[in-house]
Amino acid sequence: MTTIAFIGLGNMGTPMAQRLLAAGHTVRGFDLSEQARTRLTEAGGISCASPAEAVAGAGVVILMLPNSDIVESVISSPEVNAELAANTLVIDMSSSEPLRSRALEQRLRKNGIRFVDAPVSGGVKGAENGTLTVMAGGIDENLAEAATILECLGTVRRAGQVGAGHAAKALNNLMSATHLLVSSEAILAGQSFGVDPELLLQIVNGSSGKSGSTENKWPNFILTGTYNSGFALKLMLKDMKIAVDLADQVHAASRLSHAAVQLWEEAAAELPDNADHTEIARWVAATSQEPAASQR
Ligand code: NAD
Repeated sequence: MTTIAFIGLGNMGTPMAQRLLAAGHTVRGFDLSEQARTRLTEAGGISCASPAEAVAGAGVVILMLPNSDIVESVISSPEVNAELAANTLVIDMSSSEPLRSRALEQRLRKNGIRFVDAPVSGGVKGAENGTLTVMAGGIDENLAEAATILECLGTVRRAGQVGAGHAAKALNNLMSATHLLVSSEAILAGQSFGVDPELLLQIVNGSSGKSGSTENKWPNFILTGTYNSGFALKLMLKDMKIAVDLADQVHAASRLSHAAVQLWEEAAAELPDNADHTEIARWVAATSQEPAASQR
């Protein structure tokens, strides 16, 4: 069993840390939120007063933070560097930027620290149930070691070298967000024509238009009116931008992707800062044009 420093105990990090504890690991956690630290103590973890205190004595450091800026500010701070033991394995499970992860790995390697990127898909439910898909990038030896720890969180899938996990995650979310957007438009059009949304979803889920949006997000978070998937709209937009930046950097065609980003950006500008990403469906409905009198 391993002593793990876990930094970032939010919607995803809390249930993930709880599963690591249940698997018998020692978890030394830190989050800016006191509530989050208390939740860790209640689950049997050790709450630390700073990231540096959390990493002291840990063989593995897991990061589950909002973005690359925060990941770098935490792991590259002089205080944390002073406490990271040589050969520590840093696993960035946040949805970070692939090229920045490569650069971070090189900087850490100079100090004898190992790095794997291992972002996840599967949402808060997947984190609670240990059914996440973990998309891992790194060298074989480090991935094998990471997999022995991460298997209690879900299925570990190798994506390639360092940064490949973060690339796979961003591209997955670009597809997921685009499906959610187009399904919002399609279901709205159906409803305006008189097709009941629940019936349309049943039909689509037995047909070729189905997706994670039609099978999970629509029935569980949109039709219920709860809009509480636990994944923020601004985090989804961050992932989409990472994906289209990547596409641009490798000169891959991305016109539809850019159009989708533009619409999600408009939604983010108009919705509250903490809006759940499933709110995109309500936003699409709210932006509908009233039909012209001649079309009524
Ligand atoms: P969240 O906002 O709920 O949690 C992030 C946590 O990081 C918060 O508790 C915050 O207090 C903490 N934090 C921020 N800055 C910090 C710092 N400097 N030091 C310590 N703690 C700090 O976000 P989340 O939904 O848990 O997502 C975390 C990551 O996982 C993101 O990169 C996100 O894109 C990704 N992700 C989320 C989901 C989901 O369904 N929520 C699914 C897959 C991947």
